[in-house]
Amino acid sequence: MSTPSLLILPGDGIGPEVMAEVVKIIDWYGDKRGLNFDVSMDLVGGAAYDKHGVPLADETMAKAHEVDAVLLGAVGGPKYDVLDFSVKPERGLLRLRKELDLFANLRPAQCFDALADFSSLKKDIVAGLDIMIVRELTSGIYFGEPRGIITEGNERVGINTQRYTESEIRRVAIAAFELAMKRSKKLCSMEKANVMESGILWREVVEEVAKDYPEVAVSHMYADNGAMQLVRAPKQFDVIVTDNLFGDILSDCAAMLTGSLGMLPSASLGAPMANGRPRAMYEPVHGSAPDIAGQGKANPIACILSFAMALRYSFDEGAEATRLETAIEKVLADGVRTADLLGEEGATPVTTSEMGDKIIEA
Ligand code: ATP
Ligand code: MG
Repeated sequence: MSTPSLLILPGDGIGPEVMAEVVKIIDWYGDKRGLNFDVSMDLVGGAAYDKHGVPLADETMAKAHEVDAVLLGAVGGPKYDVLDFSVKPERGLLRLRKELDLFANLRPAQCFDALADFSSLKKDIVAGLDIMIVRELTSGIYFGEPRGIITEGNERVGINTQRYTESEIRRVAIAAFELAMKRSKKLCSMEKANVMESGILWREVVEEVAKDYPEVAVSHMYADNGAMQLVRAPKQFDVIVTDNLFGDILSDCAAMLTGSLGMLPSASLGAPMANGRPRAMYEPVHGSAPDIAGQGKANPIACILSFAMALRYSFDEGAEATRLETAIEKVLADGVRTADLLGEEGATPVTTSEMGDKIIEA
């Protein structure tokens, strides 16, 4: 098989700083594990605007179509706040998501034991937690028509429409089942089939897709109960698949089970390409954090974990992904902390680059 290809778009603010640590790790995989990637680097966001006058050049978009996976840092910053909406840094990201048709957003909530005290919940509820929320990203109530604010009689009415086609549900369900097969073969689908037609269809289509994955244990839950269960006993879940609106809320809720923004990776997946790999973009959940940019303070772990997701979900290198996650676990257990992982008291934080070095050492 040909060398897997990666397009790296470091972006703005702390994006290039955290991505530099991922590049070190990619080099390590080449040197020490014989796992090589054909890497190209390019600009996105404000950095692309500065050079090309647009937040994503056409050549960069074309490259994104060609590679096996895109790895993105972060975009935006105060310098670009004055720009016209059409060329704002965030538009670069939106263009990538839209043109690659990335309809499944994956947000893991993974709790490293050493950080369990960071959770808003009791330690034993979250220690060892490892769940994955798959949120439908391109349809549902955020996009359905009709929408708008109209006037009816003498008052205004705000309207949004929840609309899902079978094929939209099917493709995100398939993405979630494929993930479940690479994890612990357990999937919970969440909707509100008790009060919403789109929920009834959602449940039916998930059941249909389930027939193709007899090894996966499937359950269904109303999303409100799901929210409660996520906070009550999150370890009962492995993969959760849900629509755009519920996924938005449930994934933020799950994120807080684990703690710092500097720890959270994400992936957005689309349809399979000719080589069978899904179209994919991996990025940390955090933004460009202009307040700490350029100071070596950023925590690179969210970005490194995003690369671990790429190893597992784009490149079928699950064992190597685990190797990387285990190294992170060890470094955290040793008490190595960037500033965001320290409370008020005591210990000295390591820099972005020192954290990367420690992880490589481990
Ligand atoms: P965006 O609009 O791009 O989402 P934002 O301003 O909402 O950006 P972030 O840029 O994600 O939010 O950051 C919010 C704050 O969290 C930052 O100002 C920073 O202090 C902290 N933060 C975010 N990411 C990290 C990180 N990787 N390491 C350390 N601190 C971080
Ligand atoms: Mg934000």
